[in-house]
Formats: sequence, C-alpha cells, structure tokens
Amino acid sequence: MAKFPLAERQLLGVKVCLKCKSRNSKNALKCRKCSYTHLRNKRARRKEKA
Ligand SMILES: [Zn+2]
Repeated sequence: MAKFPLAERQLLGVKVCLKCKSRNSKNALKCRKCSYTHLRNKRARRKEKA
C-alpha cells in the first residue's frame, strides 16, 4: 500500500480548495490562490476499493 511514502505524507498534510482545487497547507484557513475559505482535508486513504 505504501508504495510512495513521500507522496502519502504530502497528502496527509494537505487541504484542497473546493473552488480552484489548489493544495494548501493543512494549517491554512483559506486558499492561498483564490482566498476561498472552504478547504477540505485531503485523505490519504482514497484508494480503498475493497
Ligand atoms: Zn482556491
């Protein structure tokens, strides 16, 4: 599963802007690109297809 540990770690510490889909730090309160305040946490466990 942990094929790309580095990428996985990056995914864990990331929030994605719902508007422009740019990645922000997990501590970000708003998007650094468009200042949109609705960020969602990016989950590492996205590929659970079982
Ligand atoms: Zn944005």
